[in-house]
Amino acid sequence: MRPARRRLLPAAALAVAALLATAAPAVQAAPTAAAAAPDIPLANVRAHLTQLQSIATANGGNRAHGRAGYKASVDYVKAKLDAAGYTTTLQQFTSGGATGYNLIADWPGGDPNQVLMAGSHLDSVSSGAGINDNGSGSAAVLETALAVSRAQLAPDKHLRFAWWGAEELGLVGSKYYVNNLATAERSKLAGYLNFDMIGSPNAGYFVYDDDPVIEQTFKNYFAGLSVPTEIETEGDGRSDHAPFKSAGVPVGGLFTGASNTKSSAQAQKWGGTAGQSFDRCYHSSCDTTANINDTALDRNSDAVAHAVWTLSAGTVTPPTGTVFSNADNVSVPDSGAAVTSSVPVTGRTGNAPSALKVGVDIKHTYRGDLVVDLLAPDGTAYRLKNSSSSDSADNVIATYTVNASSETANGTWKLQVRDVAAQDTGYIDSWQLTF
Ligand SMILES: [Zn+2]
Repeated sequence: MRPARRRLLPAAALAVAALLATAAPAVQAAPTAAAAAPDIPLANVRAHLTQLQSIATANGGNRAHGRAGYKASVDYVKAKLDAAGYTTTLQQFTSGGATGYNLIADWPGGDPNQVLMAGSHLDSVSSGAGINDNGSGSAAVLETALAVSRAQLAPDKHLRFAWWGAEELGLVGSKYYVNNLATAERSKLAGYLNFDMIGSPNAGYFVYDDDPVIEQTFKNYFAGLSVPTEIETEGDGRSDHAPFKSAGVPVGGLFTGASNTKSSAQAQKWGGTAGQSFDRCYHSSCDTTANINDTALDRNSDAVAHAVWTLSAGTVTPPTGTVFSNADNVSVPDSGAAVTSSVPVTGRTGNAPSALKVGVDIKHTYRGDLVVDLLAPDGTAYRLKNSSSSDSADNVIATYTVNASSETANGTWKLQVRDVAAQDTGYIDSWQLTF
């Protein structure tokens, strides 16, 4: 998990943001009834960790980007997947002058237009073997993929697994993957599940609060074990789900804690030590195979499999409709006046729909700076996105649903974008209306 970045917005913008907050866009239908996932053997997950530890020990004590230990980790995971019937791809990128690798593994079959992904970063920091961060996630995702092969699972959705490089340098590998996916391929992603640190020695049970369906799937699983969960805050936006979320893909994941301190209330419900960090070896040389809580690793590995089995069942019918779009790039002045991009709508009768789909693709290096509105032909504004001081991710690529039933359909609709904070810039790449 990478360190956090915070920026202060001008007071005026914060006041406006608080006043005008509206709901986030809807994402997925509930999945159909799914076969139950198998138990993921802890011993198998542990065996992968032992291998990753040996790799680190043999390569200068780490598995960091650009080092031999990272490439050996990739080779280990890839060999397992190739032997299990996966179609694997090594995606190369460069960062800090060194070559990095993302390992992508596709399980044959399933609807190619509905892809469920599960991933974890495989690199460590240079100061240690990175067994909890993030051998734990990598090993659990690997063992889940091998369980899919053992079961010869034939899910409705297409299943894809990923191991990211250079996460510790700033989500470099996962960003590279998302940014290099064609828009059509991106739109096929039904969900991305992220697992970064799921074996912390003084473990907590945290669930990402992004996509509600994914979140509930994890919560249901832990409720079934009578294990209470909390919403994940410490790593919000600091792991490989962030580029997917920025691209409008429904995301979710699990986490057992890093340098934050466990409270006495948390120790009461989860066990462990109050007043001590969840992982006191976070990003250090003691993050070895001795730095793992087996109960947490076991429960979270089973939860990974449960989510993959549950969320890969069933497909949703893609929405139909008439699309009006504008792909002209419009620059957004930094901390300046609002700009607009127009879409003329013709040939419609009556009013616009109550579930008008507004798809936007805005490139920007700090999406929290942006306020985005839809302007109807008569000038009525519909707030799509507010600014946010903590949202440091790139780009706004999302589909919003607007009740525009009081608006005449035909006429010139506008997307209005305003950057309310200095330093980061961007442009409207394209946007569209689906009637
Ligand atoms: Zn990590």
